[in-house]
Amino acid sequence: MQNSDVITHDVIVVGAGLAGTWAAMTAAENGVKDVAVLSKIHPLRSHSGAAQGGIAAVLNNVRPVAGTGPRGPLEQIPPGDDPVDSFDLHMFDTIKGSDWLGDQDAIEIMVKDAPDVVIQYEHMGCVFSRTKDGRINQRRFGGHSAPRANFSADRTGHVLLHTIHEQALFHNVKFYSEWYVMDLIIEDNITRGVVAINVLTGDIKMLRAKAVMFGTGGYGQAFKVTSNAYANTGDGVALAYNAGAPLMDMEFVQFHPTGLYRHGFLMTEACRGEGGYLINKLGERFMKKYAPDKMELAPRDLVSRSEQIEINEGRGVMEDGQGIYLDMRHLGREKIMSRLPEVRDLAIAFAHVDPIEDPVPIQPTAHYSMGGIPTTVDGEVLANANGDLITGFYAAGEVSCVSVHGANRLGTNSLLEASVFGRRAGRAIAEFVKGGAKLHPVPGDPAEKNRKMVQQLFDNDGTELVEDIVQDLKTTMTNKVGIFRDEEGLKSALDEIHNLQERFKNIRVMDKSKRFNTNLSMTLEASHLLTFSELIAAGALNRQESRGAHSRTDFPKRDDESWLKHTMAHKDEDGRPKFSYKGVTIYWDRFPPQERKY
Ligand SMILES: Cc1cc2nc3c(=O)[nH]c(=O)nc-3n(C[C@H](O)[C@H](O)[C@H](O)COP(=O)(O)OP(=O)(O)OC[C@H]3O[C@@H](n4cnc5c(N)ncnc54)[C@H](O)[C@@H]3O)c2cc1C
Repeated sequence: MQNSDVITHDVIVVGAGLAGTWAAMTAAENGVKDVAVLSKIHPLRSHSGAAQGGIAAVLNNVRPVAGTGPRGPLEQIPPGDDPVDSFDLHMFDTIKGSDWLGDQDAIEIMVKDAPDVVIQYEHMGCVFSRTKDGRINQRRFGGHSAPRANFSADRTGHVLLHTIHEQALFHNVKFYSEWYVMDLIIEDNITRGVVAINVLTGDIKMLRAKAVMFGTGGYGQAFKVTSNAYANTGDGVALAYNAGAPLMDMEFVQFHPTGLYRHGFLMTEACRGEGGYLINKLGERFMKKYAPDKMELAPRDLVSRSEQIEINEGRGVMEDGQGIYLDMRHLGREKIMSRLPEVRDLAIAFAHVDPIEDPVPIQPTAHYSMGGIPTTVDGEVLANANGDLITGFYAAGEVSCVSVHGANRLGTNSLLEASVFGRRAGRAIAEFVKGGAKLHPVPGDPAEKNRKMVQQLFDNDGTELVEDIVQDLKTTMTNKVGIFRDEEGLKSALDEIHNLQERFKNIRVMDKSKRFNTNLSMTLEASHLLTFSELIAAGALNRQESRGAHSRTDFPKRDDESWLKHTMAHKDEDGRPKFSYKGVTIYWDRFPPQERKY
């Protein structure tokens, strides 16, 4: 290996969203001098910055006005008055939302760390929306029994990401912007570093570190209609799996009920949190049939399924009947302008509809990846279902599965998860590095191996184009591994994915240049999509029950007897997935499984 090709840091964080940046900033704050963050896109374009609705934490700043019922208007709680919210309630809502698949020890930590993390954001200068008396304002969100979404209008993620990014710069974290990580090097269960391509120059380098942390985000781009950024191609899960790490609960993919019709861009759940209605072709608020109590604020899995049933039974709107209306007109101009300005702009720009005047056509959109790299509550990556660890490898945020969301995530719990567990991973990494962690030798020359792989891709005189393969994959995943699933569809999806993996071998990269070669990065991303999509479909086929976002029409009931357990997928010697299962941590005396009704 030539020395000029090797870059060395104490800690390498891959991903500049909330999880990665929190980990990097906290490790630096706790005394690690040499921390670097790699991001394949500009750090501030990470998908965290697109989050709209809010970040959950029990602060007890607002409550419904007395006598107006749980959905009545909100007012600030005068100092000294009884609280309406509690840690137990936030835990219970999250556990019920997860359909009892969330690990309750991790959920407890997330809920109890939440107020502190939000206050830390505030002290770092984050501009939250306020109540009249100057406290952080809170709004309602789906599946939460009290108003506990702390927000900055409908650009919460933007505000949080800028705040934490500034702090990372302040603590001298080095950012490598537009560096694409293409390989993770783990040997003998010890993490050695990563191989990355500098997108601007095309140079491929080995980056060595004592600890590597993944905060690479979710995998929504495997689906045709998605709220996710183009960058959310699940690179992190695929790289970890290829390097020998297991992946957990990959079959659980959340569909958000209100993606803009055809585009999938998110109309935040805050639209319904602020009081918006869902209406079918007949003008009915159909949620009264499916969730008479929570109505539009039932959790996302349930609302998306209800919409899909309305659409499938011919009560959808728009020419093809594939839409539903999100009606916010009754909220009035002032509320829409002050609380939901960004979604109004989105609706005007892309659907040519002003929500102040007209209902907005929406449809379910692939939104969140519950599955991912299994970790401890300190971000340490598990090597197997027994709880052994991979030395020096950490993960947090959407790429990870700790697991706080189980089978279905509640809105606003994800910015929280990325912040809480990013921060905890940062602390654990600092301890690990300061405790005498070593820079382990790198076997062979991984950078050269990856250079050859890229050269082979360029030399490949194939006939397949990456965009065709990705489009075919998205269609398969949406039609057969989407909101509703069954054995026949999942088997045929697996066949199609295997076929696409074969077609990928015959790929032709049209652009052979070195600088800013997006054709090459799309090709690498496509290989990742093909890797983990197989795990989603295979995990879903194995799981013969319906739980949270995983809904099998041929097994419509939840089956705790056989399936109250996490799926773990490992790569076999022959490259095929091998499955094992891991128990769920449940506080049997406090939150035992019950039927999930809203
Ligand atoms: C439109 C939208 C709205 C949302 N609203 C909310 C909300 O209101 N409340 C809430 O709690 N949650 C919300 N979520 C979910 C939440 O925003 C995400 O789950 C969370 O921000 C993920 O953060 P992260 O740090 O894990 O990853 P991300 O913010 O997605 O960051 C991933 C990072 O990894 C980098 N990366 C990935 N692959 C590579 C690679 N191969 N090489 C180098 N770098 C790589 C990317 O460049 C990026 O910097 C929303 C999600 C979406 C899509």
